[in-house]
Amino acid sequence: MKNNSLLKVPNINSKDAKLKKLIYEVDESLFHADNYSNEEFEHLCICSGGTTSSCAKNGFTTLDLRKNYSKIHLDKKTNLVTIGGGVIMGDLVNHLQKHNRSFPIGLSKLPGAGYILTGGVSPLSRAYGLAIDNIESIKGFLGNGTFISLKKNQINPEEQLIWEAIKGAAPFFSIITEIELKTIQSNPIKVIEGFVNLNELSEIIKLSEEFPENISLQWIYAQKIYIYIFAELNNLEDKRTEQNLMLLDKFPALEKQFYENFNKINFFPKELNLYELNANNHSEVISLLGEDLKNDIPIFIKCLGEIMDNKPNNSCYIASQQLGGKTKKLNHGASFFVHRKSTWKPWIYASWKKNDLQEKEVALEWIYKSWSKLKRFYPNIHLAQLHNHLNSHEEEITLAFGNRMNELKTLKNIFDPQGILPPL
Ligand SMILES: Cc1cc2nc3c(=O)[nH]c(=O)nc-3n(C[C@H](O)[C@H](O)[C@H](O)COP(=O)(O)OP(=O)(O)OC[C@H]3O[C@@H](n4cnc5c(N)ncnc54)[C@H](O)[C@@H]3O)c2cc1C
Repeated sequence: MKNNSLLKVPNINSKDAKLKKLIYEVDESLFHADNYSNEEFEHLCICSGGTTSSCAKNGFTTLDLRKNYSKIHLDKKTNLVTIGGGVIMGDLVNHLQKHNRSFPIGLSKLPGAGYILTGGVSPLSRAYGLAIDNIESIKGFLGNGTFISLKKNQINPEEQLIWEAIKGAAPFFSIITEIELKTIQSNPIKVIEGFVNLNELSEIIKLSEEFPENISLQWIYAQKIYIYIFAELNNLEDKRTEQNLMLLDKFPALEKQFYENFNKINFFPKELNLYELNANNHSEVISLLGEDLKNDIPIFIKCLGEIMDNKPNNSCYIASQQLGGKTKKLNHGASFFVHRKSTWKPWIYASWKKNDLQEKEVALEWIYKSWSKLKRFYPNIHLAQLHNHLNSHEEEITLAFGNRMNELKTLKNIFDPQGILPPL
């Protein structure tokens, strides 16, 4: 085995993949269709944070952006930050923190630019929008090798569709090497966290659907249920924040923690025993989208209990994060994150011992069954992971891009006619 045939990335499926070739630079050779086998539906894999199962595949070439596209530069006058396409979110917020700035990253510091390009749902999104809503400009290459450089408010009519599709569907037709982002003032955070039971979760979801924009709920149901209520303290909202947080005093197991800034928070404590980074396991995750549960909370809680009773192994979990507020607004311009009404993004995770194909089948079946039960509450998909290697791919992309699916297909045909990038 050659040295370069494996990729060191957090996702174990991708880490174990035996690559055909590893490339660090976007060069012309990437865009020659002859380099990709037709029979294997071979395409180029792109790696930024390397947290998904699609950044490396057996026998495929990976373009690893982490080495040569990792610069981070904050313009202190404009407070805009420019990052390379291979920057991970932890490095971004650590850099920004030195200047008392921040960015609405997600629940983990590990994801890379894929987090931003696929939408980017943060505990801060209700106040600051999705990650894509904070994109000011991008540079990169289309699947046909053409260089692109696009800047908000300076987009020609013929570039408009590309600009909108970059925000939510970039991986299907482009390689993004540079992104300019708005940053936000870094504020202290109060987190109320701890284990709860299903009844308590039900009550807390009800309260959270009335939260102001600076507060969000995230919960995870693995062996037990753990919740985080995340409140950004921004002075303006402090009184209202306190009033809302006081409603949680009745849950005795919850603890209040104060953090100087977002960077100091580590979600998902070790006590949850999550399998995400377990080197012996491979995994998949599907992310859903839906609106407030309102009167359906009790039926949802019953359904959740049933799903968890049927989990085939202890790795399986269901979690959810809250969006809404600013993510519902369209004043950042249209994008390919089409389900703007969504206020909840649950995700279903399962893993299996790698090489155990039977266990894999059972785990995936649990994901699909759970998804079909949850569809009545969360009918849409957040395409945060590309699943063109799974049977669910077609349904996922249809439910992710909705009425913009045909436009995406057109873009793919025009700008990636040879199918160099991941297939739709
Ligand atoms: C622990 C954990 C927590 C998470 N929490 C959240 C969360 O809170 N909110 C949320 O919205 N998501 C969350 N995610 C999902 C994550 O943001 C997405 O899966 C994202 O796509 C991962 O991006 P990546 O760069 O790390 O992955 P990679 O595997 O490197 O890339 C993912 C896909 O994006 C494409 N891609 C990546 N970079 C580029 C680029 N520069 N140009 C073109 N295509 C590119 C690749 O083709 C690849 O298929 C979480 C994931 C993990 C593992």
